[in-house]
This record gives sequence, C-alpha cells and structure tokens, in this order.
Amino acid sequence: MNITTNSVVTFHYALSDNDGKLLDSSHGQDPFTYIQGASMIVPGLEEQMEGKRVGDTFKAVIDPAKGYGDFDSQLLQQVPLEKFGEQKVEAGMQFQGGEHGVFTVKEVADGKVLLDGNHPLAGITLNFNVEIIEVREATSEELSHGHVHGPGGHHH
Ligand code: ZN
Repeated sequence: MNITTNSVVTFHYALSDNDGKLLDSSHGQDPFTYIQGASMIVPGLEEQMEGKRVGDTFKAVIDPAKGYGDFDSQLLQQVPLEKFGEQKVEAGMQFQGGEHGVFTVKEVADGKVLLDGNHPLAGITLNFNVEIIEVREATSEELSHGHVHGPGGHHH
C-alpha cells in the first residue's frame, strides 16, 4: 500500500546538513515508526512521505521552515551564572525551561550564561535519505491513543 493519512510507516533514515555532515541516523538501530498525518515527524518530510511504498528509497531536502524552524535570535538570552546556584554549567548542556521548552547553553563567560531556546536543528536545511521498511494501516486503537503500538512504538 502507498503511504497516506493514518498509515503506520516504518523507515530508516540518515540526516545530513548541506555540507554533507551527518547529524542523525537510524542505521545500526531500530528503524523509526510513526503515523502519517499525526505531525510526529517534521512537516516537510511528512509531505514527501505521502504516496511512497515499501522498498522506496528517496532523498528529501527540507527547508528550515518545514523542518525545525528558522533560527530566531529572540530566543537567545543571557542569564547571570549565579542563577544556576551550585549547578555546574558548561557549553552544550541542555535545560528544561518550563513552558519555553529546552534551552541549550551556548557559552559561559564573565559570569554570564548564553542560553539558546532554538531547536538544535533550527535554521538548518535537512537532507534526509529515506528507506521505507514497512507500511500498514493504523488500528483504531492506535489512532485514538495517538501513537504506534508494537515494534517501534508503545508496549502496554
Ligand atoms: Zn497506546
């Protein structure tokens, strides 16, 4: 069957930036499983999945706007280091920022911490190499739970 809304899709992927640097990959681990149309993957990839079938391999190039968003400099903020108290703070660490999601520490200097609230892949053109492993219809139970059951999904 071809991938359409409410298909459960299992796929392998390799994700690179425009310079060919590998950012993420499912190879060597379990493939990724999601429900088409449920916004579980970035919008640009979901669009290009539509109509594909088992065995298809393809490359999807996705602009930031349909990936993890454009980089927003408004989401950069400086916080005094003492706000972190005894906690060790260094570049690359991530903090849960309440309603504002996840912040990444960009820099610690002169008693100040530069926090970045952008997704780590914001502003990056995504180059996916995709291989479709399995396509099936979601069960009504999966659709009401909003997630996949079985391999690659929830077990409960
Ligand atoms: Zn469930």
